[in-house]
Amino acid sequence: MKVIIIGGVAGGATCAARLRRLDEQAEIVIIERGDYVSFANCGMPYHVGGIITDRDDLLVQTREGFKRRFNIDVRLQHTVTAIDRAAKTVTVCRHDGSTATESYDRLVLAPGAEPRAVTIPGLPADRTLRLRTLNDMDAIIARAETARGMTVLGAGFVGVEVAENLRHRGLEVQLIEFAPQAVAPLDAEMAALVQRELKDNGIDCHFGTTVEQAEPAGARLKLTLADGSTLFTDAVVAAVGVVPETALAKQSGLDLGPSGGIVVNERLQTSDPAIYAAGDAVEIRQRVSGRPALTPLAGPANKQTRIIADNLAGGNSVYHGAIGSAILKVFGLTVGATGLNARQCRQLHIDQQSVIIHAGSHAGYYPGAQPVSVKLVFAPDGKLLGGQVVGTTGADKRLDVLAAIIGLGGTIADLCAFEQAYAPPYSSAKDPVNLAGFAAENLQRGLVRGVEYDAVDRWQEEGAQVLDVRTPGEFARGHIPGAINIPLDDLRGRLADLPHDRKIIVHCQVGLRSYLASRILLQCGFTEVYNLSGGYRTYEAARG
Ligand code: FAD
Repeated sequence: MKVIIIGGVAGGATCAARLRRLDEQAEIVIIERGDYVSFANCGMPYHVGGIITDRDDLLVQTREGFKRRFNIDVRLQHTVTAIDRAAKTVTVCRHDGSTATESYDRLVLAPGAEPRAVTIPGLPADRTLRLRTLNDMDAIIARAETARGMTVLGAGFVGVEVAENLRHRGLEVQLIEFAPQAVAPLDAEMAALVQRELKDNGIDCHFGTTVEQAEPAGARLKLTLADGSTLFTDAVVAAVGVVPETALAKQSGLDLGPSGGIVVNERLQTSDPAIYAAGDAVEIRQRVSGRPALTPLAGPANKQTRIIADNLAGGNSVYHGAIGSAILKVFGLTVGATGLNARQCRQLHIDQQSVIIHAGSHAGYYPGAQPVSVKLVFAPDGKLLGGQVVGTTGADKRLDVLAAIIGLGGTIADLCAFEQAYAPPYSSAKDPVNLAGFAAENLQRGLVRGVEYDAVDRWQEEGAQVLDVRTPGEFARGHIPGAINIPLDDLRGRLADLPHDRKIIVHCQVGLRSYLASRILLQCGFTEVYNLSGGYRTYEAARG
């Protein structure tokens, strides 16, 4: 059997190595248009920032290494320009301009995605950078060496990583995002925590706008934004998302799905059973929504191509889809999301509720506990739909717990029952994920009702009373306009100060004291009591 794999980085290289482990006889050819095979594209931002100091550390495997260890024929600087499905051949164009035809028994498409192009009038091509390949990375570093400042377009995962790492190099960095917030997989109030971290670390953030015009300003560039503001920079790095690389699929008539990716079945075969596809180029089932989606992440790409290798070797492995778990370092913060966020649920017309808790990374009495914020999104029947975590120590493990439970189709009850390994330096007897589950369960059982930070103004205009149950000292340091302050411990004696005929929005700093207050009020005859999700900490962060 001769297998040709198009694309030799995350998915393609994994597929080739696994196939060789399963089938010593197969002829395996990787065709890669770039200069490198199997490099660590996820590590590139950190080499830009000088955190990964040695460029060679990004080269996971070489052409020679593939030959030596796996007997795999890697052809670099070769581009597949056409597939003839009837003849089972591909046309390969070498970078010296010559072409050849190569036959296959099975073909694997792992061509990845292309960065979405940006066109800004007046922006010179040599100052428009992107980050997809090692050559792109080298170009950013070369420009950064002489630049005073650089501007990153797009505050998604790659854009934020690039912005942070340019800052590490000591550059002035502007981050410009068309959406009103950074990091789209997060809901706005969780993203607000990230935005604060970016600003605190000297990134000049502009949300809800874009660059409309560039013009020379001496040796520098002047950028004019859609909101009319101007700024000066030396180059622009565009990180505004990716589009699946589907040129070959289109040319050869393979089916594409509604989101533009290559359609594959559970065995990861395209509409031609002799052709498999995986990675950023394919459309797979989003397991929470059940709908087709693009999931341009390294984990799914690697898992998919492992499955393809199994199937090429005669197995029957299936891919059930992705939930979309992603994590990001933003200076001192760890930021992650898994499954669907509340905004996506609303867009997909999926009924959801959500809770936010702020807890400690481990027992408060053991030194060094750090805050960790967890947002859960769940269905009315308790099924977990998504989770978001922002914190420092241990935030990643909380995200992975949520991902595991969501991946297994779990519920709030599973989160409440989740039995973590506990000792004071690591966790609490009630871990933050348990606490998030408890808060969700209270909401689901009707023990408390919730209100989101962004409904507070509207509810106040409609007559709602905000009740702040923190201490007078906390109240004095900042509070919601129009709130009355009755500390929790005084509440039972001051019920007469509260209206029975209006909604009461109760809040404390993070949501625990206000939950207790809500329970007192509800059991004392107040019916319209709503706990502010995430408390004043979330409200303050989200309102800026
Ligand atoms: P790729 O790894 O992109 O490989 C596709 C290859 O196919 C390319 O090298 C391309 O040159 C080649 N190719 C395309 N067409 C042809 C053709 N016609 N002929 C020959 N060769 C062709 N994901 C995460 O999960 N976590 C992260 O932290 C993370 N960080 C990232 C940071 C950066 C800067 C970037 C760019 C991506 C990051 N990703 C991350 C995304 C992750 O790298 C991708 O999801 C993953 O590489 C996709 O694998 P793939 O095999 O589909 O495509």
